[in-house]
Amino acid sequence: MTELLSHIDLDRGTLSGGSHIERRLSQLRDAFADRQAVDHMLARGEDPVVYTVSTLEHGSGEGDQHVGLGVLHPGTVGQEFFLTRGHRHNRPEASELYLGLRGRGKMILQMSSGTSVIDLKPQSLVYVPGYTDHRTVNTGTEPLMYLGIYPAWAGHDYRSLSERNFSVVVVEDHGAPRILNRSEFLQSLGAHH
Ligand code: MN
Repeated sequence: MTELLSHIDLDRGTLSGGSHIERRLSQLRDAFADRQAVDHMLARGEDPVVYTVSTLEHGSGEGDQHVGLGVLHPGTVGQEFFLTRGHRHNRPEASELYLGLRGRGKMILQMSSGTSVIDLKPQSLVYVPGYTDHRTVNTGTEPLMYLGIYPAWAGHDYRSLSERNFSVVVVEDHGAPRILNRSEFLQSLGAHH
């Protein structure tokens, strides 16, 4: 029987009745722009948990909905803030609602018409239209927590993004987030390495 009531634990970052996954840096190597920075951390034996997701699946029918509680930890790899892998939906027409619960961050929304970077914080409600690649970035100093609510049939497509990644990166510049084009950022890394 489907749970009618769940509890969001804002301290533990869990959703009661949800199934829990965690993603470590070693599983996100190709999501970050600065591979060298990733490899340096891993070589030092640092493989932090970057984010966790607690997912509650209310059925799998056409009218059903799933909800995920995301917890994205604070941190950087090189200059890039910790991020989620990002995806679009297997059925790309599926939209999603994100609700910020804790912390400060940004969502990168990449559509065919262009890319938007939107603040995500408590009481932010972000609409992710269909046909949109979406990624979350923690630009703050505490865990970024949010709910994502989407149709049960949406599915997750990580593959189409893994080849091209997002067109922008969010980097730390004198303590503040700065949005750069990926190609510009990669060029600036090439000049330094
Ligand atoms: Mn989604």
